[in-house]
Amino acid sequence: ISVTLNKLDACRWSIPRTGGMRVPGLIYSSETLLRAMGNDESPQQVMNVAHLPGIVKYSLAMPDMHWGYGFPIGGVAAFDAKSGVISPGGVGYDINCGCRMITSRLNFEDIRDRLKDLVVALFHNIPSGVGSTGVLKLSPKEERQVLTQGSRWAVSQGYGSEEDIETTEDHGAMAGADPDKVSPRAIERGRDQLGTLGSGNHFLEVEVVEEIFDPEVAAVFGLSVGQVAVLIHTGSRGLGYQICDDYLARMVKKMSELGVPIPDRQLACSWLESQAGRDYLAAMACAANYAWANRQMLMHWTRETFEKTLRKSPRELGMKLLYDVCHNIAKLETFPVDGNMMELCVHRKGATRSFPPGHPALPVCYRKVGQPVLIPGDMGTGSYVMVGTEKAYQETFGSTCHGAGRVMSRAQATRASSGRQIAREMADRGVLVMASGKGTLKEEIPEAYKKLDDVIDVVHRAGLSRKVARLRAVCCIKG
Ligand code: 5GP
Ligand code: MN
Ligand code: MN
Repeated sequence: ISVTLNKLDACRWSIPRTGGMRVPGLIYSSETLLRAMGNDESPQQVMNVAHLPGIVKYSLAMPDMHWGYGFPIGGVAAFDAKSGVISPGGVGYDINCGCRMITSRLNFEDIRDRLKDLVVALFHNIPSGVGSTGVLKLSPKEERQVLTQGSRWAVSQGYGSEEDIETTEDHGAMAGADPDKVSPRAIERGRDQLGTLGSGNHFLEVEVVEEIFDPEVAAVFGLSVGQVAVLIHTGSRGLGYQICDDYLARMVKKMSELGVPIPDRQLACSWLESQAGRDYLAAMACAANYAWANRQMLMHWTRETFEKTLRKSPRELGMKLLYDVCHNIAKLETFPVDGNMMELCVHRKGATRSFPPGHPALPVCYRKVGQPVLIPGDMGTGSYVMVGTEKAYQETFGSTCHGAGRVMSRAQATRASSGRQIAREMADRGVLVMASGKGTLKEEIPEAYKKLDDVIDVVHRAGLSRKVARLRAVCCIKG
């Protein structure tokens, strides 16, 4: 199958409506990034998504796009909340996978000679790896509280403070969570994995602010050159995975009842107003809340580890949650469409919310400048902090990219790393890395991802989010 990409301007390509497509496709990218994608099938997936009933305006993809289950990773699609569908594949298996960044009062000089101790201590205190289990084994009652309260549950147990909740997307709890819509198997998988990083692509990274692009916004975000920050990337672990799996199975079985032809079984979906659609939203919210509690706990242990390792008080460290964003989620939100405000269900799969200044969903402290947007690159590079824009609100349902995005499969990356000492290579670049999985570092080499600068350049020029600061990695623990 061939895909027609019509260049609209320096950063946008449209895919014209053909066949059963209800809307056109719209891809944010660059010639360089499109070329690097080779024969990745995600543009075809953008077309497939455009077939789903109730989709509004266009089927979108961000410059970090690559192939995903059904929907592309880097994909954004909004559906009419009344007449549209919801699709678990449009959220992804790791429901509310996301990032949080913690800023500090430390400068790189304060930790330069302690990096080795820091990375070892973090690796020791943050449980990681495939199927890793945490120090907690939740009772059924506790787990229900986690699923409904999210970050607030973690804070109530002494993991962090009220302030952390203020700077978490949705205050770390999505409304409508109903544990009765979560299968016993998913509940079981969630019992002992809270407070764990997980595998592979998930990480905890110590970073240093290298460059400030927007001094005004950086000041509001509390960022300055030379400052130490920590970025945590993880999600809802086995619980979220199981919920996705359960609802895909349920929706696949009922696809004929939808009464609409769908080009790919992986796009299994239900009407938002159907029982299955509502049940999925209620279960998805549970997984989202679990992920927020998870990141909140990991942040707490990160703070403790810094205190012990550097022998500094919380006050001296000043480790503050800049923001926590989700990048795998479906949300009921309101956006202007053709001049009217419309209730939509926005699917962001490997895409970050990028809300503009003044949006009521933002914490008061950021309302003047816009939402902090956290974009990681790879373990040898670091990340960017960006800020949300009005353009994204008007054009992409308040969304931007979520990372650099893969260009190599895990298998390809492993082959490309054969015979190499990846930890040594990273150390030579100034990054101390430790990983739980034996093959993780080989699968996660920097070349396995697109160049972060290229991806950031596209979203910045397209106006979907603006550059605030660039951070370089100095320590990274991987799953
Ligand atoms: P995903 O949620 O799609 O698995 O990953 C999000 C993004 O994180 C990836 O697209 C990649 O660019 C970035 N990433 C993966 N591993 C690392 C890492 O160890 N450090 C940093 N800074 N970014 C990473
Ligand atoms: Mn994830
Ligand atoms: Mn993720």
